[in-house]
Amino acid sequence: MLNNVLELAAPAVRQLAPYVPGKPLSELEREYGIRDSIKLASNENPLGPGTKARVAIANAVNDLGLYPDGNGFELKQALAKHHACSTDRITLGNGSNDLLVLLSEAFLTPEVDAVYSQYCFAIYPIAVQATGAVGRVAAAFPESHQMSLGHDLDAMRKLVTDKTRLVFVANPNNPTGTWVDAVALKRFIASLPSTTMVVVDEAYIEYAVNDASADASRWIDEFPNLVVTRTFSKAYGLAGLRVGYALSSAEVANVLNRVRQPFNVNSLALVAATAALDDEEHLQRTAELNSKGMQQVLTGLKELNVRVYPSACNFVLVDCKRPGAEVNEALLRQGVIVRPVGGYGLPTHIRITIGTEQENARMLVALEKALGK
Ligand code: PMP
Repeated sequence: MLNNVLELAAPAVRQLAPYVPGKPLSELEREYGIRDSIKLASNENPLGPGTKARVAIANAVNDLGLYPDGNGFELKQALAKHHACSTDRITLGNGSNDLLVLLSEAFLTPEVDAVYSQYCFAIYPIAVQATGAVGRVAAAFPESHQMSLGHDLDAMRKLVTDKTRLVFVANPNNPTGTWVDAVALKRFIASLPSTTMVVVDEAYIEYAVNDASADASRWIDEFPNLVVTRTFSKAYGLAGLRVGYALSSAEVANVLNRVRQPFNVNSLALVAATAALDDEEHLQRTAELNSKGMQQVLTGLKELNVRVYPSACNFVLVDCKRPGAEVNEALLRQGVIVRPVGGYGLPTHIRITIGTEQENARMLVALEKALGK
């Protein structure tokens, strides 16, 4: 009988704290004995999958006895057309999370480092630290900055040395909702040594408008050290299926392919993503619902004496000016799941996903009560 298995784990793994996901509805209802709760905690699309994806999934059920196409031929063809690039620049992943981990496994060792920003997406430090590489954290913009808590690209650049193999930029970023402007981002990428890969994580890019929608995927020809990750989990409404992709040089894709599991994307995900890419109408409806919902939530929050950060995503970061864990608990009791972000070093903040009109209205009433207004 092993009494301290943790001591047997790799030193880097011993130091890790597990990622805390948004609470599932079923768990809340089991724990609190309530029903009809709503989840605005994981930035999912309230519309779910579009019709084309639903039809594709139903049609693929009969083939589930077979392994998926390990090369994802059809999805890569569709993506190559969508991004006007060749298929050898595309790597598919079990969610874009898979690609962030594959990039870390492929390029990091305990001898090198990776750079990311304070308040960046929580998976970057976990993926980096699991390899034993050093994670170097650049201070985010201060509260007083117009892009409060956002990535400071100059501060990030200063941390990059010839030992830096990966830099992560989430654009827009979760949990802050902040973004970087296209000119600044391009200048940043151009300034990096060729031995540093820059990962621009565009999980929320479909929601971003105007100056927030830099779209680094247009630059993969120009920068051999650029990797852009995208996902079908957010605006495409396929979070439960787990499918994302990376766009990069063919050389980087070749490296990622060496560490990728042979069947990392399942067959339902492959067909659903291919169909979703062809469903402009669903994407349009999603964007419209989000922008109306964002207005509704921002208007409602104005009444509540909280600080709301500008967001280019399908969620908002809110400073409740009191412990976020307590506000979260008061919301859970009313059947509303949001995301406390104390783990990000934001102890008085919560992150709220934009839902349907009814869900947003219910959240606003519950939040007012939780704040004792
Ligand atoms: N990047 C960012 C910025 C995210 O917020 C998320 C999901 N929360 C991901 C990547 C990973 O999403 P998925 O694995 O579902 O593609």
